[in-house]
Amino acid sequence: MSPIVPQTAAPVVVWFRRDLRLADNPALAAAARDGRPIIPLFIHDPAGPPRPIGAASAWWLDKSLKALMADLAALGSPLILRRGNAGAKLRELITETGASAVFWNRLYDSASMTRDAAVSRDLSAVGIDCQSFNGTLLNEPLAVKTGAGGPYRVFSPYWRAVRMSAGDTPPSPAPARLARPPVQIHCDRLADWNLHPSKPDWSGGFADWAPGEAGARARLDTFLDVAANHYIDARNEPGVDGTSRLSAHLHFGEISPRQVWAAADYAALHRDASLRQIEVFQKELGWREFNHHLLFHFPHMTHANFNPKFDDFAWRRDGFGLDAWRAGRTGYPIVDAGMRQLWATGWMHNRVRMIVASFLIKDLMIDWREGETWFWDTLVDADLANNVANWQWTAGSGADAAPYFRVFNPTLQGEKFDPAGEYVRRWVPEIAHLPATDIHQPWRCVSSSAYLAPIVDHAAARDRALAAYESIK
Ligand SMILES: Cc1cc2nc3c(=O)[nH]c(=O)nc-3n(C[C@H](O)[C@H](O)[C@H](O)COP(=O)(O)OP(=O)(O)OC[C@H]3O[C@@H](n4cnc5c(N)ncnc54)[C@H](O)[C@@H]3O)c2cc1C
Repeated sequence: MSPIVPQTAAPVVVWFRRDLRLADNPALAAAARDGRPIIPLFIHDPAGPPRPIGAASAWWLDKSLKALMADLAALGSPLILRRGNAGAKLRELITETGASAVFWNRLYDSASMTRDAAVSRDLSAVGIDCQSFNGTLLNEPLAVKTGAGGPYRVFSPYWRAVRMSAGDTPPSPAPARLARPPVQIHCDRLADWNLHPSKPDWSGGFADWAPGEAGARARLDTFLDVAANHYIDARNEPGVDGTSRLSAHLHFGEISPRQVWAAADYAALHRDASLRQIEVFQKELGWREFNHHLLFHFPHMTHANFNPKFDDFAWRRDGFGLDAWRAGRTGYPIVDAGMRQLWATGWMHNRVRMIVASFLIKDLMIDWREGETWFWDTLVDADLANNVANWQWTAGSGADAAPYFRVFNPTLQGEKFDPAGEYVRRWVPEIAHLPATDIHQPWRCVSSSAYLAPIVDHAAARDRALAAYESIK
């Protein structure tokens, strides 16, 4: 039972950022522990950090905040919304309410860490108790070191070092009740932030998503009930609903990796899901951890090649190719299907992300940063660590990356992972009538004339890319 604290006690501000949930939220739990009044706060700074938010992420954030507002109101202390510079908005709120403490969960990109350090320094200097917690990762970057005491650069030894302890801290429940401060506090109108697109509203295809803590939990349960039994094979087939689709929920912290990990462990023990399937799924959470580890230790990789050899690579400037790629009009069905799925729904299957990234970087020889920027704007799960690390992985310029000379053949990838053509049929309706034997090579059929001819010849483009790579090796 929490101690009885007078309502006049100075409130604690809980500064929500990418932890938009009540359960397993260490900052919220710590603030709620002694029963002091709590001011839940979300500050929207359109400039970032880490960067100005992308359009698809803004769509998600709008809905996620609505869900959090309803959940917090039900618990007793409504969410306060403010827009602008975080340090200034925190000082403003503290002056208005007499709050004596600010609690938050940590972030690991350098821009956010710099901002948080400045906030902590400024507020501590005037006697405000600033406390931060780990609510985002299974293992924080500083807690994991190689034998030599440095950061890991290769995934396998990293994962060997952390996986046994990944489930050590069990998730904690949501507080039962939050005390509300006795003062009236101004709250911005969420609609005034214009996070939802208008003129035009392009988000019709996003309707299947359910942002928010309840939506995240439901998504996890459905996945563990059904797809977790087939994850190892199904996760590579874009035509099948075989992965968890938790990435945006995890990015916005509507569910914590500890909750996902513990629920997966439970499923392996008490439901049908086999341990082997669950281990492979948990390893994907490991990649998320590893990418955050990399970004923390090598912050320049958000904009520069992790491997500086690639600084001399002769990227092509190709406006036509880039536009065709973005629009899903390359003439390669699996690439076009992926890019159209992304545009319509804000998400793309992982296997297809690898294929479209390889196509941009190797077939078109366009700088990975162009692709990373497009994904940042169009993905609902756009995440600095995961996006940058995966783009650099595909480019071959990253840590523990795919070698540059491994060039995906988009036709063979399509035939292997979408053998019946279900995925392509769904997103490239111009060729939906083609049989499975031709759907990944529509140029073989006269009846595919409504579809485009490939904008590059893959074999020639591959040779060009490998020749360019030879010059920097
Ligand atoms: C070029 C490229 C860009 C990417 N950009 C992002 C991004 O901005 N944000 C993002 O969250 N993921 C990104 N990914 C990784 C991956 O594609 C998505 O995390 C995954 O497709 C999300 O679907 P899911 O939740 O169904 O995954 P599941 O297969 O169900 O995996 C469970 C969770 O593990 C994590 N995960 C899975 N694969 C990876 C991976 N390769 N790297 C890091 N974490 C992973 C995600 O948090 C995911 O939700 C990118 C991959 C590529 C190739």
